[in-house]
Amino acid sequence: MTYQIKKAAVIGSGVMGSGIAAHLANIGIPVLLLDIVPNKLTEEEEAKGLTLEDTKIRNKFAATALEKLLKQKPAPLATKKNLSLIEIGNLEDDVDRLKDVDWIIEVVVENLDVKKGLYEKIDAVRSPQTIVTSNTSGISIEAMAEGRSEDFQKHFLGTHFFNPPRYLKLLEVIPNKKTDPAVLDFMLQFGEDKLGKGVVIAKDTPNFIANRIGTYGLLITLREMEKRGYSIGEVDSVTGTLIGRPKSATFRTLDVVGLDTFMHVAKNAFDKTEGEEQKVFELPPFMKKMIDNGWLGAKTKQGFYLKK
Ligand code: NAD
Repeated sequence: MTYQIKKAAVIGSGVMGSGIAAHLANIGIPVLLLDIVPNKLTEEEEAKGLTLEDTKIRNKFAATALEKLLKQKPAPLATKKNLSLIEIGNLEDDVDRLKDVDWIIEVVVENLDVKKGLYEKIDAVRSPQTIVTSNTSGISIEAMAEGRSEDFQKHFLGTHFFNPPRYLKLLEVIPNKKTDPAVLDFMLQFGEDKLGKGVVIAKDTPNFIANRIGTYGLLITLREMEKRGYSIGEVDSVTGTLIGRPKSATFRTLDVVGLDTFMHVAKNAFDKTEGEEQKVFELPPFMKKMIDNGWLGAKTKQGFYLKK
């Protein structure tokens, strides 16, 4: 079997899903971008007399994601022309359309149950041979594939992009025990040749390679900062511009990643470790408080920094 990606679907139009869709559009691959239907209207929408049945609102998450891509600084993540390769829809009305794509990329919240629920729906409609991958930051690929059809499991693997997907080159590819070697080979080649990534195969261990090291390092940095009274500015400078990096590797990165997503990723490792190692993966209370306040970073315009 030879594989080809003529059309892809991205499910989840948040920080990563919209970025991955834009990256695909930029290399000429048409994309179907789906998200859930919002379960409530904003006050403004209610005042206008709109209902959830309104088509525009039903596709609101995906539509808003595309608008944001054009406003990204310092440069839009895709041109308007390239974005025309992205069709939007929602998971209630458009799930059947997944049968027409060659690659389905799941990019929804970092939660095993949510992802498994979605795979059940995908398994029921996808065409045989369609490749399905997850952008999970570190949930077990094996656990996500459990209960799915043989054909699904053979065509399922992790493809972990980094944020922002247009600029960061790394792509971790994580097979499960049943992944067909031909599918793995295809994805490695496609990742390098078409997506332009530096590809590494990672074992299916909690948080794979980059996030296992990265989450650990970040949480140790936060603890040291609190213990020694360093300021956010000091830490960001010495992990960023002062040592020649274009941006900080600490708080600005957390704002870009999203504090809620970082919390889920830290929990992946916390749940699978014990003793002294596990303690490192516990979120500091100040960060839990920020998340409770809805200060999730760039996506809510308030994190460690305000996004203007
Ligand atoms: P996000 O919070 O920005 O977006 C998540 C999207 O999932 C939202 O658009 C939401 O509407 C949708 N969603 C929520 N519940 C859903 C459901 N039941 N069914 C379908 N869609 C649902 O999150 P994100 O940062 O884009 O992360 C998405 C995935 O990518 C996660 O697995 C995360 O771990 C991974 N990831 C994130 C980053 C990062 O830097 N943020 C980097 C690499 C990988």
